[in-house]
Amino acid sequence: MGKPTGFKEYVRQMPTDRDPLLRILDWNEFHEHMPEDELRSQGARCMDCGVPFCHTGELMAGMAAGCPVNNLIPEWNDLVYNGHWREALDRLHKTNNFPEFTGRVCPAPCEGSCCLGVIEPPVTIKNIECNIIDRGFEEGWVVAEQPNTRTGKTIAVVGSGPAGLAAAEQLNSVGHTVTVFERADRIGGLLMYGIPNMKLDKSIVQRRIGLMAEAGIEFVTNTAIGKDVSGQQLLDDFDAVVLCTGATRPRDLPIPGRDLHGIEFAMNFLHANTKSLLDSDLEDDNYISAKDKRVIVIGGGDTGTDCLGTSLRHGCKSLVNFEIVPEPPAERTPKNPWPQWPRTFRIDYGHAEAAAKFGDDPREFCISTSEFIGDENGHVKGLKTVEVDWSKPVDGGPPFSTVPGSEREFEADLVLLAMGFLGPESTVAEQLGVELDPRSNYKAEYGRYETNVEGIFAAGDCRRGQSLVVWAINEGREAARECDRWLMGSTQLP
Ligand SMILES: Cc1cc2nc3c(=O)[nH]c(=O)nc-3n(C[C@H](O)[C@H](O)[C@H](O)COP(=O)(O)OP(=O)(O)OC[C@H]3O[C@@H](n4cnc5c(N)ncnc54)[C@H](O)[C@@H]3O)c2cc1C
Ligand code: SF4
Repeated sequence: MGKPTGFKEYVRQMPTDRDPLLRILDWNEFHEHMPEDELRSQGARCMDCGVPFCHTGELMAGMAAGCPVNNLIPEWNDLVYNGHWREALDRLHKTNNFPEFTGRVCPAPCEGSCCLGVIEPPVTIKNIECNIIDRGFEEGWVVAEQPNTRTGKTIAVVGSGPAGLAAAEQLNSVGHTVTVFERADRIGGLLMYGIPNMKLDKSIVQRRIGLMAEAGIEFVTNTAIGKDVSGQQLLDDFDAVVLCTGATRPRDLPIPGRDLHGIEFAMNFLHANTKSLLDSDLEDDNYISAKDKRVIVIGGGDTGTDCLGTSLRHGCKSLVNFEIVPEPPAERTPKNPWPQWPRTFRIDYGHAEAAAKFGDDPREFCISTSEFIGDENGHVKGLKTVEVDWSKPVDGGPPFSTVPGSEREFEADLVLLAMGFLGPESTVAEQLGVELDPRSNYKAEYGRYETNVEGIFAAGDCRRGQSLVVWAINEGREAARECDRWLMGSTQLP
């Protein structure tokens, strides 16, 4: 531990975000950096715990607690406090291939499990992580690493999100020849076309992909496996396959009026926006614009928040966000003890921006949409809602009931559906003969990752269901280890 009294001397400090009213005028990242001396003081708050819950990544009472990639957090907190940035970077890369992504977008389960969090606000682990890797790039310490020898084994990774990228990097590092297939025109999965630029600048994604290509990984874009290349072709051409196709089937809302124009899946809205932004700075008009529209986002989470932030940057007229769940409590409840991830009320960047622009938090809780209303041209002009009561589940039905007399109408020109995802699409599994689990994800045991088809592995959201970037990295790394073990008989990968 760098400074035994650090946690008593320094309070938790985060860098200030850019002013919400100014940052919605552009697409640049909203986080600022912190001066080095302040970062070092934040590192000094770490108590170097005997049992560092921050680093565990274990399921506790069914909920994840701590870092899913088991980052060596107390070690790099100490190194940062002492100013040993290069060594901190080496420790960070031991467990995490892409700290510049998690350092920006991770909800930081590590902080939810930090022991200091029992009595004080937790250590600013995520911000320290981000600064270690950003400094590493600034100093030129992060370079492409080619393996010394090649094994002659060929591996196809299908899908280039964080799971696919982590698997590819690990497999390449031990000398296999890796080809990553991606059906989109750019590599990165949801890092590229899900999470918007203001949260994760696309030049940062591109920078890492450039290094990976330099290290010998081949990236093939605009190529859908199951369509442009058949499953059989893949099996003929490669010694092993790692499926990392994500959970790309969005949950729909099949209620009256669903076929009206102006009701869009969140991912169509977000993907087209980032593509147009990168292709033409939004000059080509190839995106769904929220400009001057009354926007309603149905569904919360990261996807809902990103729809809020994107609509605001287009210049929407009004913004409402429906959540079917109740408003979370301000503090942990007894059912959600430390070191579990705290399910408490949070104000994410999109909520803060909407409140700054329109005066109020945009969220409406315990609300369910019952019907979309259209105009004479078949375009949505509003929707009907009803309140739900979670204390009164319906026998044999949903876990909530509707509140009589709570019907309301909202005006809307654009409705964005952000209600989660239902697993991977079926084509690849059908062509390869891969079995699905009861939740329609590729069936492969966590920790082993092998599907029912020998030599085919699955990792990330397509295996575990929609999740987080950090879990995708964890699964990609571990699936690479199992794939290497299967190919070579033993493995040195972690
Ligand atoms: C809008 C949004 C915002 C999010 N924000 C956050 C956040 O802030 N923090 C966080 O931790 N998590 C966030 N998540 C979740 C996170 O992005 C995912 O958990 C993570 O990206 C999953 O990684 P993956 O590699 O398994 O799949 P993905 O990132 O989904 O990548 C799968 C890739 O496979 C490709 N693919 C699919 N089928 C084929 C095929 N047949 N042939 C070729 N390619 C194919 C897809 O095009 C895609 O590029 C967000 C998710 C969404 C939707
Ligand atoms: S739990 Fe918190 S205080 Fe303890 S080692 Fe981890 S970061 Fe440091």
